[in-house]
Amino acid sequence: RRFPVVIVGAGPAGLTVGNILRAASVDCLVLETESRAFIEQRPRAGVLEEGAVRGLERRGLADTLLRRAQRHTECEFRFDGRRHRFAYTELTGVHHWVYPQQFLVTDLVREYADVRGGEIRFGVRDVELHDVDGDHPSVSYVCPETGRREVVRCDFVAGCDGARGVTRDAIPAGRTRTSRGDYGIGWLALLVEAPPSADSVVFGMHPRGFAGHMPRSADVTRYYLQCPPDDDPENWPEDRVWAELRERLGADGAPPLTEGRLIEKRVLEMHNYVVEPMVSGRLLLAGDAAHLTAPIAAKGMNLALHDAFLLGDALAAHLTKGDSTGLDGYSAACLERVWDYQEFSHWLSEVYHGVSSGDPYRAGTTLARLRRVFASPVAARAFAEQYLGQPATR
Ligand code: FAD
Repeated sequence: RRFPVVIVGAGPAGLTVGNILRAASVDCLVLETESRAFIEQRPRAGVLEEGAVRGLERRGLADTLLRRAQRHTECEFRFDGRRHRFAYTELTGVHHWVYPQQFLVTDLVREYADVRGGEIRFGVRDVELHDVDGDHPSVSYVCPETGRREVVRCDFVAGCDGARGVTRDAIPAGRTRTSRGDYGIGWLALLVEAPPSADSVVFGMHPRGFAGHMPRSADVTRYYLQCPPDDDPENWPEDRVWAELRERLGADGAPPLTEGRLIEKRVLEMHNYVVEPMVSGRLLLAGDAAHLTAPIAAKGMNLALHDAFLLGDALAAHLTKGDSTGLDGYSAACLERVWDYQEFSHWLSEVYHGVSSGDPYRAGTTLARLRRVFASPVAARAFAEQYLGQPATR
């Protein structure tokens, strides 16, 4: 069969592109290596920017989110043994939305496949791209039911298969440049079956290492603990996890942590990359396939959605009206925001990790940076703007 667009990957980026195309009555096929049940339960991100929420809402994709997501107005920094509340909504009028990624993916799959009639194949294996630099690209994959390789011809391929996908590798050598940044730091990412221990996100800057507390839902909370990038999660039995969290998030007057069963424990390496341009021939990359931002500033899912809005709209305009302005400017429009968020992530990484660097000079400048956010209204506003992210493009 032939589809105008084949989308590789059913994450937030791929499903959003698919939904936009279906709303414009463009046929597309989504190929996903995992099962539907798996992607609907895979916990990852949880923080959505106002711009991402409004972008979803404008495309009819936020009904459930707007009913169920929590709206946050403040976050808290803990350093020097004290609590420092940062009321960003008071400063800017803008919220952060907390909605676990798997809930959003569940909403997007349901809307795409069950409401808008989009085609999706789960459990495919060995996806390969062919002739993406010519006018007649195709995508092939091994069908899980028959074990046979199927070939799908198309006009465009949307590479939305995340950081470990295959689409990026289909770009012929020399067509793109990949810039990389590595903080040389790991975060032990934990999910705990327990209500949040505070009413907001909490960042703990401590000489023993960074610790974070991120509410996800009424009964699940994410925590992070800075660790060596090659650390083994097995080095972190429950008692050690809770002892370190108590120590690093401890501050005068802080409520005790609500402990619970650890339901996820894995080490994430804090590294980034950016592929430029995000387009080669008829292959257009979006989301983590094109750029990775370490979860330091909670920007990855937001960038993936921003790319998807632009890509979905651009493909729909080209395929239904012959207007290729959006496609021509797609990569540049995404990369401007990508680099802005990379820079903020870089800045914030120093704030989180400087105190524990072992270098008293870095620790001193980090604490000065933090104090400035609380002492200067201009610095506070600048921080809030970057923390909350740019508005939706449209
Ligand atoms: P993905 O969500 O990775 O989706 C890609 C899809 O492609 C997957 O379903 C995958 O199974 C599929 N796939 C892979 N290979 C193939 C293939 N060869 N063929 C077909 N399908 C394939 N971001 C935020 O904005 N805020 C946060 O708070 C935040 N917290 C995070 C916490 C953690 C622990 C982690 C790991 C990430 C976090 N992120 C956060 C980042 C965010 O999860 C990602 O940026 C986001 O998932 C990117 O979406 P995507 O659609 O580009 O890729």
